[in-house]
Amino acid sequence: MHRFWLGAALLFVLSFGLEDTTAPPPIWTYDKPQEWGDYCQDKAAFQSPIFINSSTPVAAHPHLHPVLLTTNCRFHTDTTTVLQESNYRTVEVRLPTNASTGPVCSLFDQNSRELYPFVRFHFHVGPEHGVEGVSADAELHAVFQQSSGKTLVVAVRLRSSKSSSNTIVNFFRATLAAPLPQGGGSSTKLLPSSIGLDDVFPLSDGSYVTYEGSLTTPPCTDKVRWIVFTAVQSIPPSALSELRDALKSYMPRTFAKFGNARAHQPPLGRPVFKFADPTSTTTNRWIMTQEDEDHLKSSIPFTDIVSLDRSFFARHAFGLCIVILVLATIGLFIRLREQPVEVGVSDAAREAATYGTMET
Ligand SMILES: [Zn+2]
Repeated sequence: MHRFWLGAALLFVLSFGLEDTTAPPPIWTYDKPQEWGDYCQDKAAFQSPIFINSSTPVAAHPHLHPVLLTTNCRFHTDTTTVLQESNYRTVEVRLPTNASTGPVCSLFDQNSRELYPFVRFHFHVGPEHGVEGVSADAELHAVFQQSSGKTLVVAVRLRSSKSSSNTIVNFFRATLAAPLPQGGGSSTKLLPSSIGLDDVFPLSDGSYVTYEGSLTTPPCTDKVRWIVFTAVQSIPPSALSELRDALKSYMPRTFAKFGNARAHQPPLGRPVFKFADPTSTTTNRWIMTQEDEDHLKSSIPFTDIVSLDRSFFARHAFGLCIVILVLATIGLFIRLREQPVEVGVSDAAREAATYGTMET
């Protein structure tokens, strides 16, 4: 009898484990957020996502500005690759271009006057951030990061709708088309049609809420600047289905109930500011003009403009030249300092040859 229960227990454990055969051993899971503390860097810091309602201390900030992207945030079909990656928790999309030097797509935070190069975007089916009175099905996170590691994330809340614009249909067809990578895989393809990163931003309303939070997955790194659009973007139902199917294949045991969305975190009295967009629909208003971008290049540190894809030596060529020049100068200086000593020795030797040495 004892053996029977032991065998049954073993079978249960094995069958439970087999359910996630496509995934690696779970380190952290969405059904057990109470265990995330072991993997998050600082549990006491301001965390994300948050729920924004009338009781959230949101203050309308009189000096906030619209989101603004650099001119090369339009990606062209003949020079851009779509790289889809699965990390068992979400689908990440990168858009590497052929250009090995020069500026990359960046977000210019007009509020802090800092430039953040674009890294990737990924999805959460939940969504993660909550905005009172505005429901959504999913959320896109566009991640921007400076070379120092300072991070800004733009959150676009998405809702399935058959009345999606042609622009957004094209955006998802180009970047999220099936087959999405399964279980830790990745896939690449040439971008099938030109798109803009701004294509996925809400067209009718650029209003947003901004606050300091964290990454919403372990290691939950804090001091992340968030910009959360308050309006939702309508996406085609087929795009949401493809996304759901892929995520379900990564998390077959937990996805149906928990999605891949972290629960709302306590606001802890942190400042949350709102930018109320005073304008109505204007195409491409998130892309800065070439003139503005040229002016920007001359007014902020160059290191935040150069491509992240450039090699170490290319990125540090200037610094390496300076180091080599300094070392060469020091070497020359030492050489010149040593020269009189050699002359002195030579003279002493000549003197010894002439007058003989005196042994003591
Ligand atoms: Zn995210």
